[in-house]
Amino acid sequence: METVEPYHLLLVSFFGALWGSFLNVCIYRIPLGESIVFPASRCPHCHKNIAWYDNIPVVGWLMLRGHCRHCQKAISPLYPLIEVVTALLTVHIVLVFGFSWTTLALITLGYAFLVLMVIDLYHYILPNVITLPGILIGLTVAALPQVGPPIATLHDALIGAAIGGGGLWAFAWIFEKITGKVGMGLGDVKLMGMIGAWLGWQALAFTLFFAALLGSIVGLCWIGLMGRDRAKPIPFGPYLVLSAWSYLFIGAQVYEWYFRTTVPGY
Ligand SMILES: [Zn+2]
Repeated sequence: METVEPYHLLLVSFFGALWGSFLNVCIYRIPLGESIVFPASRCPHCHKNIAWYDNIPVVGWLMLRGHCRHCQKAISPLYPLIEVVTALLTVHIVLVFGFSWTTLALITLGYAFLVLMVIDLYHYILPNVITLPGILIGLTVAALPQVGPPIATLHDALIGAAIGGGGLWAFAWIFEKITGKVGMGLGDVKLMGMIGAWLGWQALAFTLFFAALLGSIVGLCWIGLMGRDRAKPIPFGPYLVLSAWSYLFIGAQVYEWYFRTTVPGY
């Protein structure tokens, strides 16, 4: 943990919430194939432009009590929720890694992860416009000398992208040929390539294992408690994202513990 002035944290959380507002635009528009830059924010129902004072993160939504100023239709609480989550995510990274290039890189990754996760939850897709540049940007960031752990070295990032993308693609292909079932979507494979590019090949086993574990637990609870239809697909992206994000903070300790308990004389 780094020591950060409370005043700076307040600024960081405001900065995070503003970016959260932009992430909302990405989450809403990318699945529709729309531009994320133009036009300005509009009501999803009546398409009237949203004034800047109604667009202030969280506050705008609260002042309007979750309804559009023009058509009075409800605005999803997901919007302020994303803004709050983005602010907390940003504050957490700054608290752990201080003000550094590594923090900037992790914030970029965290924002991309958040957008991917929410889009996958709602649309069952992990858009190529995020995952493919995500792999390239990850490799570029890994090559920068200013950026340190938990961002991978270029060597580990290249192997990570190759195993995460290529290796898992081959695995998914063989799995499908043998079982006739789609075990893992290609979007998940590209996401794993992106995770490998940012966090190195070391992150892949951890991510896959905990995503599968988390997915099974949530899936079983969901079927058991709410009678969810088993045949309906469960998006895997959110679990991959949550696991990869946990790896950033606890990955090294979990590996250490695992090898100490399973490998004699480690
Ligand atoms: Zn409206």
